[in-house]
Amino acid sequence: MSVRVRYAPSPTGLQHIGGVRTAIFNYFFAKANKGQFILRIEDTDQTRSTPEAMQDIYNTFAWLGIHWDEGPDVGGPKGPYVQSQRFDVYKQYAQQLLETGHAYKCFCTSERLAELREEQTKTKSALGYDRKCRLLAAEERQKLEDAGTPYVIRFAIPLEGATAFHDEILGDISKENIDINPDPVIIKTDGFPTYHLANVIDDHLMEITHVMRSQEWISSGPLHILLYKAFEWEPPKFCHLPMVMGEDGQKLSKRHGSTSAIEFRQKGYLAEAVLNYITLLGWSYDDSREFFTKQELEELFTMDKLSKSSAVFNYQKLDWFNGQYIRRMSADELAAGITPWLAKEGFVADPPTAEQAGIIQQIIPLVQERLIVFSDVAGLAGFIFRDVAIEDPETLIPKKTDKATTVKILQKLKEIVPGLAGKSHDEIEAIFREDAEKLEVKLGALLMPLRVAITGSTQSPPLIDSMHILGTEKTLERIEKAIALLS
Ligand code: GLU
Repeated sequence: MSVRVRYAPSPTGLQHIGGVRTAIFNYFFAKANKGQFILRIEDTDQTRSTPEAMQDIYNTFAWLGIHWDEGPDVGGPKGPYVQSQRFDVYKQYAQQLLETGHAYKCFCTSERLAELREEQTKTKSALGYDRKCRLLAAEERQKLEDAGTPYVIRFAIPLEGATAFHDEILGDISKENIDINPDPVIIKTDGFPTYHLANVIDDHLMEITHVMRSQEWISSGPLHILLYKAFEWEPPKFCHLPMVMGEDGQKLSKRHGSTSAIEFRQKGYLAEAVLNYITLLGWSYDDSREFFTKQELEELFTMDKLSKSSAVFNYQKLDWFNGQYIRRMSADELAAGITPWLAKEGFVADPPTAEQAGIIQQIIPLVQERLIVFSDVAGLAGFIFRDVAIEDPETLIPKKTDKATTVKILQKLKEIVPGLAGKSHDEIEAIFREDAEKLEVKLGALLMPLRVAITGSTQSPPLIDSMHILGTEKTLERIEKAIALLS
Protein backbone atom coordinates (compact mmCIF):
# COMPACT_ATOMS: atom_id res chain seq x y z
CA MET A 1 0.00 0.00 0.00
CA SER A 2 1.46 3.34 -0.93
CA VAL A 3 2.12 5.86 1.83
CA ARG A 4 -0.43 8.63 2.18
CA VAL A 5 0.12 11.29 4.82
CA ARG A 6 -1.49 14.60 5.54
CA TYR A 7 -0.93 17.92 7.21
CA ALA A 8 -4.19 19.06 8.75
CA PRO A 9 -3.92 22.62 10.02
CA SER A 10 -6.74 24.62 11.51
CA PRO A 11 -6.56 28.04 9.84
CA THR A 12 -6.80 30.08 13.01
CA GLY A 13 -3.48 31.93 13.05
CA LEU A 14 -0.09 32.22 11.43
CA GLN A 15 1.76 28.97 10.74
CA HIS A 16 3.71 28.21 13.89
CA ILE A 17 7.18 26.63 13.70
CA GLY A 18 5.76 23.50 15.37
CA GLY A 19 3.06 23.10 12.75
CA VAL A 20 5.45 23.84 9.93
CA ARG A 21 7.75 21.12 11.22
CA THR A 22 4.84 18.65 11.28
CA ALA A 23 4.10 19.52 7.66
CA ILE A 24 7.74 19.21 6.65
CA PHE A 25 8.14 15.79 8.27
CA ASN A 26 4.98 14.53 6.58
CA TYR A 27 6.19 15.92 3.27
CA PHE A 28 9.64 14.31 3.51
CA PHE A 29 8.16 11.03 4.70
CA ALA A 30 5.83 10.97 1.69
CA LYS A 31 8.65 11.83 -0.72
CA ALA A 32 11.10 9.31 0.73
CA ASN A 33 8.47 6.59 0.38
CA LYS A 34 7.21 7.68 -3.02
CA GLY A 35 3.85 8.34 -1.46
CA GLN A 36 1.39 11.21 -1.39
CA PHE A 37 1.30 14.27 0.81
CA ILE A 38 -2.10 15.84 1.37
CA LEU A 39 -3.14 19.22 2.74
CA ARG A 40 -6.44 19.11 4.57
CA ILE A 41 -7.92 22.22 6.13
CA GLU A 42 -9.57 21.55 9.49
CA ASP A 43 -11.89 24.52 9.78
CA THR A 44 -14.69 22.89 11.74
CA ASP A 45 -14.42 25.73 14.23
CA GLN A 46 -15.80 28.33 11.88
CA THR A 47 -15.65 31.12 14.42
CA ARG A 48 -11.87 30.86 14.73
CA SER A 49 -11.00 30.20 11.09
CA THR A 50 -9.92 33.18 8.98
CA PRO A 51 -9.08 33.75 5.31
CA GLU A 52 -5.81 35.40 6.39
CA ALA A 53 -4.71 32.25 8.18
CA MET A 54 -5.63 30.26 5.10
CA GLN A 55 -3.53 32.55 2.91
CA ASP A 56 -0.64 32.24 5.35
CA ILE A 57 -0.67 28.46 4.87
CA TYR A 58 -0.27 28.94 1.13
CA ASN A 59 2.37 31.66 1.49
CA THR A 60 4.44 29.80 4.06
CA PHE A 61 4.71 26.55 2.18
CA ALA A 62 5.17 28.21 -1.20
CA TRP A 63 8.11 30.08 0.33
CA LEU A 64 9.60 26.90 1.76
CA GLY A 65 9.04 25.02 -1.50
CA ILE A 66 6.76 22.43 0.09
CA HIS A 67 4.04 21.27 -2.28
CA TRP A 68 1.20 18.86 -1.66
CA ASP A 69 -0.06 16.25 -4.10
CA GLU A 70 -3.67 16.77 -3.06
CA GLY A 71 -5.25 19.77 -1.40
CA PRO A 72 -7.85 22.51 -1.69
CA ASP A 73 -5.92 24.45 -4.31
CA VAL A 74 -4.65 21.52 -6.41
CA GLY A 75 -7.63 19.20 -6.02
CA GLY A 76 -7.38 15.41 -5.94
CA PRO A 77 -9.51 12.27 -5.92
CA LYS A 78 -10.51 12.40 -2.23
CA GLY A 79 -11.72 16.00 -2.04
CA PRO A 80 -13.04 18.36 -1.03
CA TYR A 81 -10.04 18.97 1.22
CA VAL A 82 -11.65 21.65 3.34
CA GLN A 83 -13.70 20.26 6.20
CA SER A 84 -16.34 22.99 6.10
CA GLN A 85 -17.24 21.68 2.64
CA ARG A 86 -17.73 18.16 3.98
CA PHE A 87 -20.31 18.70 6.71
CA ASP A 88 -22.86 16.42 4.99
CA VAL A 89 -20.34 13.59 5.09
CA TYR A 90 -19.83 13.91 8.84
CA LYS A 91 -23.58 14.10 9.51
CA GLN A 92 -24.11 10.92 7.59
CA TYR A 93 -21.44 9.07 9.58
CA ALA A 94 -22.69 10.47 12.88
CA GLN A 95 -26.09 9.10 11.93
CA GLN A 96 -24.46 5.71 11.43
CA LEU A 97 -22.99 5.87 14.95
CA LEU A 98 -26.43 6.76 16.33
CA GLU A 99 -27.92 3.76 14.58
CA THR A 100 -25.25 1.35 15.80
CA GLY A 101 -25.58 2.61 19.36
CA HIS A 102 -22.10 4.13 19.50
CA ALA A 103 -23.49 7.62 19.84
CA TYR A 104 -26.50 9.30 21.38
CA LYS A 105 -28.34 12.58 21.34
CA CYS A 106 -27.76 14.77 24.37
CA PHE A 107 -30.40 17.38 25.17
CA CYS A 108 -28.69 18.89 28.20
CA THR A 109 -28.73 22.68 28.14
CA SER A 110 -25.60 24.72 28.59
CA GLU A 111 -27.06 25.89 31.94
CA ARG A 112 -27.27 22.32 33.16
CA LEU A 113 -23.73 21.60 32.05
CA ALA A 114 -22.49 24.74 33.82
CA GLU A 115 -24.27 23.72 37.04
CA LEU A 116 -22.84 20.23 36.76
CA ARG A 117 -19.37 21.63 36.41
CA GLU A 118 -19.85 23.92 39.36
CA GLU A 119 -21.04 21.03 41.48
CA GLN A 120 -18.13 18.85 40.41
CA THR A 121 -15.68 21.62 41.21
CA LYS A 122 -17.26 22.18 44.61
CA THR A 123 -17.16 18.49 45.55
CA LYS A 124 -13.72 18.12 43.98
CA SER A 125 -14.97 15.24 41.82
CA ALA A 126 -13.73 14.51 38.31
CA LEU A 127 -14.96 17.03 35.76
CA GLY A 128 -16.91 15.90 32.72
CA TYR A 129 -20.30 15.00 31.41
CA ASP A 130 -22.29 12.70 33.71
CA ARG A 131 -23.84 10.74 30.82
CA LYS A 132 -27.38 11.72 31.82
CA CYS A 133 -28.76 11.51 28.29
CA ARG A 134 -27.02 8.22 27.60
CA LEU A 135 -29.29 6.72 30.22
CA LEU A 136 -32.54 8.38 29.07
CA ALA A 137 -35.51 6.05 28.72
CA ALA A 138 -36.62 5.61 25.10
CA GLU A 139 -39.95 7.41 25.50
CA GLU A 140 -38.35 10.33 27.31
CA ARG A 141 -35.86 10.74 24.48
CA GLN A 142 -38.70 10.53 21.97
CA LYS A 143 -40.62 13.25 23.80
CA LEU A 144 -37.64 15.61 23.72
CA GLU A 145 -37.10 14.88 20.06
CA ASP A 146 -40.75 15.43 19.18
CA ALA A 147 -40.64 18.77 20.99
CA GLY A 148 -37.76 19.79 18.73
CA THR A 149 -35.38 20.22 21.69
CA PRO A 150 -31.91 21.21 20.48
CA TYR A 151 -29.29 18.51 20.96
CA VAL A 152 -25.68 17.58 20.43
CA ILE A 153 -24.49 14.10 19.47
CA ARG A 154 -22.09 12.47 21.90
CA PHE A 155 -19.87 9.48 21.33
CA ALA A 156 -20.53 6.70 23.83
CA ILE A 157 -17.18 5.71 25.31
CA PRO A 158 -17.27 2.08 26.49
CA LEU A 159 -17.59 1.98 30.26
CA GLU A 160 -15.22 -0.91 30.70
CA GLY A 161 -11.92 -2.13 29.35
CA ALA A 162 -8.97 -0.25 28.02
CA THR A 163 -7.95 1.08 24.61
CA ALA A 164 -4.46 0.60 23.31
CA PHE A 165 -2.56 1.67 20.25
CA HIS A 166 0.97 1.61 19.02
CA ASP A 167 2.85 4.81 18.43
CA GLU A 168 5.75 4.61 15.99
CA ILE A 169 7.90 6.78 18.24
CA LEU A 170 6.59 6.24 21.73
CA GLY A 171 5.69 2.57 21.57
CA ASP A 172 2.55 1.01 23.04
CA ILE A 173 0.10 3.33 24.70
CA SER A 174 -2.95 2.26 26.62
CA LYS A 175 -5.68 4.06 28.54
CA GLU A 176 -8.53 2.76 30.71
CA ASN A 177 -11.75 3.69 28.95
CA ILE A 178 -13.12 5.04 32.17
CA ASP A 179 -10.32 7.63 32.13
CA ILE A 180 -11.27 8.93 28.69
CA ASN A 181 -13.18 12.21 28.67
CA PRO A 182 -16.79 11.04 29.22
CA ASP A 183 -18.65 11.00 25.97
CA PRO A 184 -17.23 13.79 23.85
CA VAL A 185 -19.47 15.79 21.59
CA ILE A 186 -19.05 14.76 17.96
CA ILE A 187 -21.80 16.92 16.41
CA LYS A 188 -22.60 20.30 17.92
CA THR A 189 -26.08 21.89 18.27
CA ASP A 190 -25.61 23.73 15.00
CA GLY A 191 -24.97 20.43 13.22
CA PHE A 192 -21.24 21.10 12.81
CA PRO A 193 -18.84 18.29 13.64
CA THR A 194 -16.07 18.56 16.20
CA TYR A 195 -12.40 17.93 15.50
CA HIS A 196 -12.34 14.28 16.61
CA LEU A 197 -15.16 13.08 14.38
CA ALA A 198 -14.14 15.00 11.27
CA ASN A 199 -10.48 14.11 11.71
CA VAL A 200 -11.09 10.36 11.99
CA ILE A 201 -13.62 10.23 9.16
CA ASP A 202 -11.34 12.17 6.83
CA ASP A 203 -8.23 10.19 7.66
CA HIS A 204 -10.21 7.08 6.76
CA LEU A 205 -11.89 8.42 3.61
CA MET A 206 -8.67 10.01 2.40
CA GLU A 207 -6.91 6.67 2.95
CA ILE A 208 -4.26 8.10 5.22
CA THR A 209 -1.72 5.42 6.14
CA HIS A 210 0.30 7.33 8.76
CA VAL A 211 -0.90 10.07 11.07
CA MET A 212 2.14 12.11 11.96
CA ARG A 213 1.21 14.96 14.25
CA SER A 214 2.30 16.83 17.33
CA GLN A 215 2.49 15.06 20.68
CA GLU A 216 -0.14 17.40 22.02
CA TRP A 217 -2.65 15.10 20.30
CA ILE A 218 -1.45 11.92 21.94
CA SER A 219 -4.17 12.04 24.58
CA SER A 220 -6.77 11.97 21.78
CA GLY A 221 -5.26 8.74 20.46
CA PRO A 222 -7.44 6.31 22.45
CA LEU A 223 -10.62 8.22 21.56
CA HIS A 224 -9.70 8.14 17.89
CA ILE A 225 -9.03 4.41 18.09
CA LEU A 226 -12.47 3.90 19.64
CA LEU A 227 -14.02 5.88 16.79
CA TYR A 228 -12.23 3.70 14.22
CA LYS A 229 -13.50 0.63 16.05
CA ALA A 230 -17.06 1.94 16.17
CA PHE A 231 -16.97 2.44 12.40
CA GLU A 232 -15.24 -0.92 11.96
CA TRP A 233 -12.39 0.77 10.15
CA GLU A 234 -8.70 -0.09 10.21
CA PRO A 235 -6.84 2.75 12.00
CA PRO A 236 -3.77 4.27 10.36
CA LYS A 237 -0.34 4.09 11.97
CA PHE A 238 0.32 6.83 14.50
CA CYS A 239 3.44 8.83 15.04
CA HIS A 240 3.29 11.60 17.61
CA LEU A 241 6.10 14.09 17.21
CA PRO A 242 8.00 15.55 20.15
CA MET A 243 7.09 19.13 20.97
CA VAL A 244 9.14 22.17 20.00
CA MET A 245 10.26 24.07 23.09
CA GLY A 246 12.02 27.32 23.83
CA GLU A 247 15.40 27.18 25.54
CA ASP A 248 13.73 27.49 28.94
CA GLY A 249 11.91 24.20 28.39
CA GLN A 250 8.53 25.87 27.87
CA LYS A 251 6.45 25.38 24.75
CA LEU A 252 7.82 27.69 22.03
CA SER A 253 5.81 30.89 22.12
CA LYS A 254 6.00 34.62 21.40
CA ARG A 255 7.90 35.09 24.66
CA HIS A 256 10.88 33.34 23.08
CA GLY A 257 10.87 35.35 19.84
CA SER A 258 9.42 34.89 16.39
CA THR A 259 7.31 31.75 16.18
CA SER A 260 5.66 31.92 12.79
CA ALA A 261 7.54 30.91 9.68
CA ILE A 262 6.47 33.99 7.81
CA GLU A 263 8.15 36.25 10.38
CA PHE A 264 11.46 34.63 9.50
CA ARG A 265 10.81 35.36 5.87
CA GLN A 266 10.01 38.97 6.70
CA LYS A 267 13.27 39.28 8.62
CA GLY A 268 15.31 38.14 5.67
CA TYR A 269 16.04 34.51 6.52
CA LEU A 270 16.61 32.08 3.69
CA ALA A 271 13.90 29.52 3.07
CA GLU A 272 16.52 26.79 2.56
CA ALA A 273 18.18 27.53 5.89
CA VAL A 274 14.90 27.66 7.78
CA LEU A 275 13.75 24.40 6.19
CA ASN A 276 17.04 22.70 7.02
CA TYR A 277 17.04 23.94 10.60
CA ILE A 278 13.42 23.04 11.29
CA THR A 279 14.05 19.52 10.01
CA LEU A 280 16.65 19.08 12.74
CA LEU A 281 14.06 19.82 15.43
CA GLY A 282 13.41 16.24 16.48
CA TRP A 283 15.06 14.46 13.56
CA SER A 284 18.67 13.63 12.89
CA TYR A 285 20.42 11.70 10.21
CA ASP A 286 23.40 10.76 12.34
CA ASP A 287 25.31 12.37 15.17
CA SER A 288 27.20 14.83 13.06
CA ARG A 289 25.65 15.83 9.77
CA GLU A 290 23.62 19.03 9.86
CA PHE A 291 23.45 20.38 6.35
CA PHE A 292 20.88 18.94 3.99
CA THR A 293 19.28 20.24 0.87
CA LYS A 294 15.57 19.74 0.42
CA GLN A 295 16.31 17.21 -2.28
CA GLU A 296 18.57 15.21 0.03
CA LEU A 297 15.94 15.14 2.74
CA GLU A 298 13.37 13.95 0.23
CA GLU A 299 15.51 10.84 -0.07
CA LEU A 300 17.04 10.46 3.37
CA PHE A 301 14.14 11.08 5.72
CA THR A 302 13.11 8.09 7.81
CA MET A 303 10.73 7.87 10.73
CA ASP A 304 13.08 5.78 12.86
CA LYS A 305 15.42 8.75 13.21
CA LEU A 306 12.76 10.82 14.93
CA SER A 307 13.49 11.67 18.52
CA LYS A 308 11.34 10.75 21.51
CA SER A 309 12.18 13.82 23.51
CA SER A 310 11.19 17.37 22.86
CA ALA A 311 13.25 19.58 20.57
CA VAL A 312 14.67 22.97 21.48
CA PHE A 313 14.39 25.87 19.10
CA ASN A 314 17.64 27.77 19.34
CA TYR A 315 17.52 31.18 17.67
CA GLN A 316 21.31 31.58 17.66
CA LYS A 317 21.68 28.25 15.95
CA LEU A 318 19.21 29.28 13.25
CA ASP A 319 21.17 32.53 12.78
CA TRP A 320 24.37 30.56 12.43
CA PHE A 321 22.69 28.25 9.91
CA ASN A 322 21.41 31.16 7.92
CA GLY A 323 24.84 32.77 7.91
CA GLN A 324 26.38 29.52 6.69
CA TYR A 325 23.87 29.33 3.85
CA ILE A 326 24.71 32.91 2.87
CA ARG A 327 28.47 32.16 2.85
CA ARG A 328 27.82 29.33 0.41
CA MET A 329 25.88 31.41 -2.09
CA SER A 330 27.31 32.48 -5.41
CA ALA A 331 27.77 36.22 -5.96
CA ASP A 332 24.77 36.30 -8.29
CA GLU A 333 22.56 34.44 -5.85
CA LEU A 334 23.53 36.75 -3.03
CA ALA A 335 23.02 39.83 -5.21
CA ALA A 336 19.52 38.58 -6.04
CA GLY A 337 18.93 37.92 -2.33
CA ILE A 338 19.97 41.33 -1.02
CA THR A 339 18.60 43.50 -3.84
CA PRO A 340 15.00 43.52 -2.56
CA TRP A 341 16.25 44.57 0.86
CA LEU A 342 18.25 47.44 -0.60
CA ALA A 343 15.25 48.42 -2.72
CA LYS A 344 13.03 48.35 0.36
CA GLU A 345 15.25 50.98 1.98
CA GLY A 346 15.10 53.07 -1.16
CA PHE A 347 18.87 52.59 -1.74
CA VAL A 348 18.39 51.15 -5.22
CA ALA A 349 15.55 51.00 -7.72
CA ASP A 350 13.65 47.77 -8.15
CA PRO A 351 14.98 46.44 -10.47
CA PRO A 352 18.26 48.29 -9.95
CA THR A 353 19.77 50.47 -12.66
CA ALA A 354 22.89 49.11 -14.39
CA GLU A 355 25.06 51.36 -12.25
CA GLN A 356 23.38 50.20 -9.04
CA ALA A 357 23.70 46.58 -10.09
CA GLY A 358 27.42 47.21 -10.49
CA ILE A 359 27.66 48.62 -6.97
CA ILE A 360 25.71 45.65 -5.60
CA GLN A 361 28.23 43.31 -7.20
CA GLN A 362 31.02 45.28 -5.55
CA ILE A 363 29.56 45.09 -2.07
CA ILE A 364 29.07 41.31 -2.22
CA PRO A 365 32.60 40.51 -0.97
CA LEU A 366 32.17 43.09 1.76
CA VAL A 367 28.99 41.63 3.20
CA GLN A 368 29.06 37.93 2.36
CA GLU A 369 31.11 36.99 5.42
CA ARG A 370 29.16 39.26 7.72
CA LEU A 371 25.47 38.89 6.93
CA ILE A 372 23.33 36.82 9.25
CA VAL A 373 20.11 37.60 7.44
CA PHE A 374 19.53 39.50 4.20
CA SER A 375 17.98 42.44 6.00
CA ASP A 376 21.36 43.13 7.70
CA VAL A 377 22.62 44.45 4.39
CA ALA A 378 20.94 47.80 4.97
CA GLY A 379 22.92 48.37 8.16
CA LEU A 380 26.18 46.97 6.79
CA ALA A 381 26.29 48.65 3.42
CA GLY A 382 23.77 51.46 3.69
CA PHE A 383 26.58 54.04 3.89
CA ILE A 384 27.48 53.29 0.28
CA PHE A 385 24.06 54.41 -0.90
CA ARG A 386 23.14 57.30 1.32
CA ASP A 387 24.80 60.14 3.21
CA VAL A 388 25.76 59.19 6.72
CA ALA A 389 24.76 61.05 9.80
CA ILE A 390 27.24 60.85 12.65
CA GLU A 391 24.97 60.99 15.64
CA ASP A 392 27.69 61.38 18.23
CA PRO A 393 30.83 63.27 17.08
CA GLU A 394 32.69 61.74 20.05
CA THR A 395 32.68 58.41 18.21
CA LEU A 396 35.12 59.97 15.74
CA ILE A 397 37.72 60.39 18.46
CA PRO A 398 39.81 57.25 18.99
CA LYS A 399 40.55 56.07 22.51
CA LYS A 400 43.55 57.68 24.20
CA THR A 401 43.50 60.65 21.82
CA ASP A 402 41.65 63.92 21.80
CA LYS A 403 39.67 66.17 19.52
CA ALA A 404 42.66 68.13 18.28
CA THR A 405 44.58 64.98 17.37
CA THR A 406 41.52 63.59 15.62
CA VAL A 407 41.17 66.72 13.52
CA LYS A 408 44.86 66.41 12.66
CA ILE A 409 44.35 62.77 11.66
CA LEU A 410 41.39 63.64 9.49
CA GLN A 411 43.30 66.46 7.81
CA LYS A 412 46.14 64.12 7.07
CA LEU A 413 43.68 61.62 5.62
CA LYS A 414 42.25 64.32 3.41
CA GLU A 415 45.71 64.84 2.01
CA ILE A 416 46.45 61.21 1.31
CA VAL A 417 43.10 59.87 0.11
CA PRO A 418 43.31 61.32 -3.45
CA GLY A 419 46.61 59.52 -3.94
CA LEU A 420 45.19 56.13 -2.94
CA ALA A 421 43.09 55.57 -6.04
CA GLY A 422 44.38 52.65 -8.08
CA LYS A 423 46.72 51.44 -5.33
CA SER A 424 46.62 47.90 -4.03
CA HIS A 425 45.33 46.90 -0.63
CA ASP A 426 48.86 46.31 0.69
CA GLU A 427 50.18 49.59 -0.67
CA ILE A 428 47.37 51.51 0.95
CA GLU A 429 47.95 49.80 4.24
CA ALA A 430 51.64 50.67 4.09
CA ILE A 431 50.78 54.32 3.45
CA PHE A 432 48.39 54.35 6.41
CA ARG A 433 51.05 52.82 8.63
CA GLU A 434 53.64 55.38 7.62
CA ASP A 435 51.28 58.27 8.30
CA ALA A 436 50.22 56.87 11.63
CA GLU A 437 53.87 56.79 12.62
CA LYS A 438 54.38 60.35 11.50
CA LEU A 439 51.38 61.47 13.54
CA GLU A 440 52.61 59.35 16.44
CA VAL A 441 49.36 57.43 16.75
CA LYS A 442 48.55 53.74 16.38
CA LEU A 443 47.24 52.46 13.05
CA GLY A 444 43.86 51.77 14.67
CA ALA A 445 43.68 55.38 15.87
CA LEU A 446 44.25 56.57 12.33
CA LEU A 447 41.62 54.34 10.86
CA MET A 448 38.82 54.83 13.39
CA PRO A 449 38.01 58.45 12.47
CA LEU A 450 38.11 57.45 8.81
CA ARG A 451 35.78 54.54 9.46
CA VAL A 452 33.28 56.64 11.38
CA ALA A 453 33.53 59.49 8.89
CA ILE A 454 32.68 57.38 5.91
CA THR A 455 30.31 54.79 7.38
CA GLY A 456 28.80 56.67 10.33
CA SER A 457 29.58 53.71 12.56
CA THR A 458 32.47 52.35 14.59
CA GLN A 459 31.84 48.95 13.06
CA SER A 460 31.93 48.50 9.34
CA PRO A 461 32.89 46.16 6.56
CA PRO A 462 36.60 46.24 5.61
CA LEU A 463 37.56 49.87 5.42
CA ILE A 464 39.79 49.97 2.38
CA ASP A 465 37.26 48.10 0.26
CA SER A 466 34.47 50.31 1.52
CA MET A 467 36.47 53.37 0.54
CA HIS A 468 37.10 51.97 -2.91
CA ILE A 469 33.42 51.44 -3.57
CA LEU A 470 32.49 54.82 -2.19
CA GLY A 471 35.04 56.58 -4.44
CA THR A 472 37.53 59.36 -3.72
CA GLU A 473 35.12 62.23 -4.09
CA LYS A 474 32.57 60.98 -1.58
CA THR A 475 35.26 59.82 0.82
CA LEU A 476 36.76 63.30 0.86
CA GLU A 477 33.37 64.91 1.30
CA ARG A 478 32.70 62.78 4.34
CA ILE A 479 36.11 63.45 5.86
CA GLU A 480 35.49 67.17 5.49
CA LYS A 481 32.09 66.85 7.10
CA ALA A 482 33.67 65.04 10.03
CA ILE A 483 36.28 67.77 10.44
CA ALA A 484 33.51 70.36 10.46
CA LEU A 485 31.69 68.39 13.14
CA LEU A 486 34.69 68.54 15.42
CA SER A 487 35.58 72.15 14.78
N1 GLU B 1 -6.32 20.36 13.12
C1 GLU B 1 -5.43 19.73 14.04
C2 GLU B 1 -4.37 20.72 14.37
O1 GLU B 1 -4.17 21.66 14.32
C3 GLU B 1 -4.81 18.51 13.43
C4 GLU B 1 -4.33 17.48 14.37
C5 GLU B 1 -4.06 16.20 13.60
O2 GLU B 1 -3.15 16.23 12.80
O3 GLU B 1 -4.79 15.26 13.80
O4 GLU B 1 -3.51 20.90 14.71
